[in-house]
Amino acid sequence: MLPAEANWQAAADAIADAQTVLVASHVSPDGDAIGSLLGIAGALRGLSKIVTAAIDEGVPDELAFLPNSQTILPKVTRGEFDLMIALDASDIERIGSVGKYGLAHSRRVINLDHHPTNTRFGDILLVMPEAVAAAEVVFDLLQYAGWQLSRDVAFNLLAGLVTDTQGFRIPATSSRCLEIAQALMEAGAPLSEIMARTLNRRSFAEVTLWQNALQSVQLQDGLISAAITQSDLEQASLHKMTDGGLVNYLVDVDAAKVAVVFKELPTAVEISFRAKPGYDVGRLALALGGGGHVLAAGCTLAGSLQQAQELVLALTRKTIDAGEGG
Ligand code: 5GP
Ligand code: MN
Repeated sequence: MLPAEANWQAAADAIADAQTVLVASHVSPDGDAIGSLLGIAGALRGLSKIVTAAIDEGVPDELAFLPNSQTILPKVTRGEFDLMIALDASDIERIGSVGKYGLAHSRRVINLDHHPTNTRFGDILLVMPEAVAAAEVVFDLLQYAGWQLSRDVAFNLLAGLVTDTQGFRIPATSSRCLEIAQALMEAGAPLSEIMARTLNRRSFAEVTLWQNALQSVQLQDGLISAAITQSDLEQASLHKMTDGGLVNYLVDVDAAKVAVVFKELPTAVEISFRAKPGYDVGRLALALGGGGHVLAAGCTLAGSLQQAQELVLALTRKTIDAGEGG
């Protein structure tokens, strides 16, 4: 995994030169994907750029409260762009069809991200693995370029910080991140409202899902795992599970070193990893074709739930052994 690579001046120049900008983020978007995207889109509109913001399938209902979320398109099929800015996405596949279209129809690409597993795609890099959220990198760019921070932009960036740090609780939470949060609050971002509408809420359907999923939990020598099947989703009347709530909950178990949650899709399995400090699931997810951070990562594997469990649990055991110097 490579060190930070951030060419602030080249990014600011590319934005100054561009008139039409496509801003894109990763599929199955979380609070940082949407927050950082809306943050930079708002800042660019403030500079009178013509902005197209898009994410495959659009904004999840639970994040629709974010200011200007209705401006995000669920796909992009026309137009040529001077610039594409990819946010919070460690590789180009992660941006789905929007990314594919953007890559083919943009003169230049800025890769703005905070994943250590970032593949360094694009023409201009703003890749900062020490940043707790892509929203932090957007904030740094705004400051570097001296652009104005409106209340809406601050609101969206704070949502990115809050969700990616689980309310400033993860080990990567830095004093710098808290300083940025303070600056965003001073610009009008409502911290308690963001907390209440992201971390401190859930639908009853999710509780129903957990009722079933928790029955699948197994713990063996520090490896805790659970599976969410298609039938669990159907019983809970959910199409998909959108957050990492369950895997975050499981890694908090005292005896757990690494937590893995398998989510069964029709022809593939989505896998979420979390680790206690000292274990590296980012490297594991990368080896499986995904990516992420040292302590939080994920991937998607084609095939059945059982196949995925056999392969991934064996590799996770090796990750635990490696963390113990084995
Ligand atoms: P989560 O478990 O919350 O879905 O994801 C945890 C972390 O892993 C996030 O930083 C997310 O961006 C990354 N991640 C999850 N799934 C994938 C994937 O399929 N590909 C890549 N590149 N990263 C992923
Ligand atoms: Mn992020």
